[in-house]
Parts: sequence; C-alpha cells; structure tokens
Amino acid sequence: MLKKALTIATCLLLLAFQTIAQGTGKESTTLRQPLVKQVNALNRGPKLVVGIVIDQMRWDYLYRFSELYSSNGFNRLLTQGFSCDNTLIPYMPSYTAPGHTCIYTGSVPAIHGIVGNNWYDKVTNRTIYCAEDLTAKTVGSESSAGKMSPRNMLTTSITDELKLSNNFQSKVIGIALKDRGAIFPAGHSANAAYWYDNGKWITSNYYLNDLPNWVNEQNAKDLPAKYMSKDWNTLLPIGKYDLSTSDDQPYETAIKGEKTVTFPHRTSQMTADKYEAFKYTPYAASYTFDFAKSAIENEKLGAGKVTDFLAISISSTDYIGHSFGPNSIEAEDAYLRLDKDIASFLQYLDNTLGKDSYLVFLTADHGVTQVPAFLNQHKIPGGTFLDLAIFNELNQSIEAEFGIKKSVLSVQNYQVYLNKDEIIRQQKNVEEIIQKIISLLKNKVYINYAVKTEAIELASLPEPQKKMFINGFNPKRSGDIVFTTLSGFLEGSSKGTSHGAWNPYDAHIPLLFFGWNVQQGNTHRETYMTDISTTLAAMLKIQMPSGNVGKVITESMKTRKHN
Ligand SMILES: [Zn+2]
Repeated sequence: MLKKALTIATCLLLLAFQTIAQGTGKESTTLRQPLVKQVNALNRGPKLVVGIVIDQMRWDYLYRFSELYSSNGFNRLLTQGFSCDNTLIPYMPSYTAPGHTCIYTGSVPAIHGIVGNNWYDKVTNRTIYCAEDLTAKTVGSESSAGKMSPRNMLTTSITDELKLSNNFQSKVIGIALKDRGAIFPAGHSANAAYWYDNGKWITSNYYLNDLPNWVNEQNAKDLPAKYMSKDWNTLLPIGKYDLSTSDDQPYETAIKGEKTVTFPHRTSQMTADKYEAFKYTPYAASYTFDFAKSAIENEKLGAGKVTDFLAISISSTDYIGHSFGPNSIEAEDAYLRLDKDIASFLQYLDNTLGKDSYLVFLTADHGVTQVPAFLNQHKIPGGTFLDLAIFNELNQSIEAEFGIKKSVLSVQNYQVYLNKDEIIRQQKNVEEIIQKIISLLKNKVYINYAVKTEAIELASLPEPQKKMFINGFNPKRSGDIVFTTLSGFLEGSSKGTSHGAWNPYDAHIPLLFFGWNVQQGNTHRETYMTDISTTLAAMLKIQMPSGNVGKVITESMKTRKHN
C-alpha cells in the first residue's frame, strides 16, 4: 500500500518536472526530436565495413618500414585510426584457414572446427582440405579449384550475423587469391566469394551459378598478363634496402619459372608458369585491390540503406614471405608496394563513400618465422623438420616394438593422429602406444613438449601454451598427441620459411581499426584475434557470432556522448 502510494507520488513529481522543463506541447516535440535523431544515428552503421587481412603480416612490419611508407597507407591507418599493438593468436596451429576463420568468427578451432588448412578426417580416412566441398562445382573455369564452400566451418561469422541482423539485406562479398582467404571470412550466407585460378577470378556454385558480367569483364582484361609484362624491380634503388639481407641468398626459393632469386625478377619472360608465378609478385596485391574496387562499384556496396561488408585478403604477401623470408628485399619491397595499394584503396573509399562513413579493420591471419638458415648464420637457434619423416619413424618404431603396422595415420599441424581401430584390433593397449609415441617425440632435440590432446589440462605446460593447445584442439578433427618445437624450428625444407607455431613470431599480428566511429589512438594491452569480431559486433550493434569467445576492445570505439 505504502509502496503504491510512493510510486504514485513519484509519478506525479516526475510529471510536474517534465511540465516545467518542457513548457508547451509544441516545445516538447522539438526537444525530443534531437534525441530520436541521436538514437537513429547510433543504430545506423557505416555504409560499408572493409576487412583487410594481410596474409603472413607480422606486427613489427608496421613500424619496421614506417619511415619508408607513405603518409597515406599504413601510416594513415596508424595515425588516424586505432592500433592494438599487442594482438595475439590465442590457439595453435597458426595457419591461414584457422586465422581467417578466427578473425571472422571471434572463435577458436576447438569451436569453429577449422583446425588447420588440412586435417585428417577420421570418417573418410584421408586428409581433407579445409574448404573442400565435393558437392560443389567450379564457376568460371574448367578446373576443380572451385569445388569449395564454407561447409566445414561450424559456427556463424560476423558477416553472417550482419546479414541476420537485417533479414539478409546487407551484401557480403569475400575476395582473395586463396580460396580459404575469401570463403571463411564471407561466411555461410555470403552473396559471393571469389578467388584466383590460373589468371582468373572464379567462384563455386555454392554461391552463384554463373559469374556476374562485371567479373567476366574483369577476367577478360587479363590483368595478370599485363602486370607480368613489366619485370618486378625494386621500388626504390636497391641500395636503400638496408633493413634487409643482401639480395642473393642460398636459402631463398626461386619463383616458379625463374632460375635466380635476385632482382629484377624477369616476370616478362615467363610463359608457361606465368599465372602461377603471378601469385609470388606484389602485383597480385594490386590486382586484388583492383577487383575489390570493381566489386564495390558493380555490386554498389555501401550504396544501400544498410551496412554492407567486403572481406579482402591479400595472399601474395604469404607466398613471397614463404619463398624469400621476412628479412628479404623481396618482402620489404612487397610491403612498400602494398602500402601504396592501401593508400590508393583508402583514397578510393573516401571518394566513393565519403570519409568516416566506412569502417576498415586491418589484421593478419598469422606471422612468420625467420628463415632458419638465416638465423643460424647469425648464431640464433633454428632449424627444420619434416612431418613425413616423423610419420615414418613413429610407424617403424611402433611396428618394431609392438608389431602393429600403420599405427600412426598422419602427422600434421604439430599433431599425431593415431590409428586407434588398428591398435584395438590387434588387442594392444592404446594408452601404452600413446605414451611410447610421446617419449619418442620428446627424444627429438627440436621437440620441446609432447602431450596427449585429451589431457592437455593435466600436463605441466606453461599457461599460454596450454591455453593455445586447448583452444586449437577439436576432438573430432584434431590429432591424439600435440607437440611444440624449440624456438626457430619449423616444418619444411631447408629453403624458405613457414609458420604455424605458438611463438610470438607466428602469433603476434597487427590490428588496426580506421574510419567510422573509431577512436584515434593505440593500446599495448593484450588483445586477441578473437576480439576482432566481438568488437565489430559491438560497433555495429549486432549479435556476436555463434561461437564467439572474444572481448570488446572498448578503447578502439568512440564513446556515446550524453548531452
Ligand atoms: Zn603461409
């Protein structure tokens, strides 16, 4: 009774205040109007979100080459946008497909299911490719390169959530030379994803039955051939590349069709391998941005009443990095040229959509290790190993001791897949075989830890690695034993380099937000790849993806002003 009386009194008091504050009814409408406008403005997202993933870009490249970059590319993103300078990958293995999937799902392989570029499939008993889809058909070429889809991804992406937020009115397009760099970012419900196949942009009938006219027109221009008709020479006089090793190194891998590893790369003289070699040149980044501009123009991205999403991934930086290493003139030159591409793309977005009406984020799917042979030249530890050699050795040892043939099905992604059916069929103890394999792995000089994946939590591992192992472990798709190597060791041959490890050189990535509603500044607080989609969901005021485990990077967003 007393409560009711109090409520009525409060209501009357509020009404009195409102009447005093508002005066006449006419004034009250005009006062409310700006508030409604503010709320509407808050709910209205940017015209377009552009995600730019630079395949294999290490965080240090932002600063290492900054004096050589222009003011309009990376430096514009850094000075006018927000940089999360300590962004880490929270799982291992750090490869392209899990990276792109994590960025766009805010989730980890344990949940989104993309545990590697490939993994051993226990149902079909073979290694499968992350984006393979045997039910899909290539659209745009005669090859099988289009038999792809995002079906192996087990959660929604931020791009799916954008579409779900407005009854699928948003347009979403993914673009990358690599199929996996276009497919997972674009999500399940994308309008299209396009990737590169032998000189052309193609897709899969998962998205479209025919290539749109504008894509056919773009393909008809044969831009890769035009780009390749000019040799790849250094942008600056070669003597200025003193941040990199001198040009001719025995541990560099030659581009297909070339005999030497030095500048100028004679791309104009390549014939048969021209379209394959193209991926290993910085021209392929320009070509990807050409296509992105064309997509914006022809699909009218950002011109509708809702937010659209363009997911771009630059793959050529990864191909160049693998072949020549992060300390090569080739890598440095590729980034100086990429900086120009980014500057021109941002200028294009300004002109087409208007400054601050689009939101860009730039990040990477993983970093890269220095070439082990180069590290050794400077007395820094490093080396290589081959999965196949481990596979053969383990099988031979287990057969010799227990009499079981093919006890190991596969070694990949720093994991060992066990043939449990065969071990049980031969009435042997699975646990005993696991412990034997762990001890065999630990005997290798370059292997640091080896643990049973189902029991990672119980292993005496440093906390960051333990967390990364658990996040990377999907019971249906991962192996039975996981191992890590000593710093500087990687899977591969003695030439070139790779990535995939937990170490900071592979797991520390750039993360920049720029444009619509972005607060200028930076943070050195620990942030994670999983936070990207979470932050985008917060900025766009939409539901976070279905497997999201990240946190909002609140510092990167402009806060709401209360007048
Ligand atoms: Zn790579």
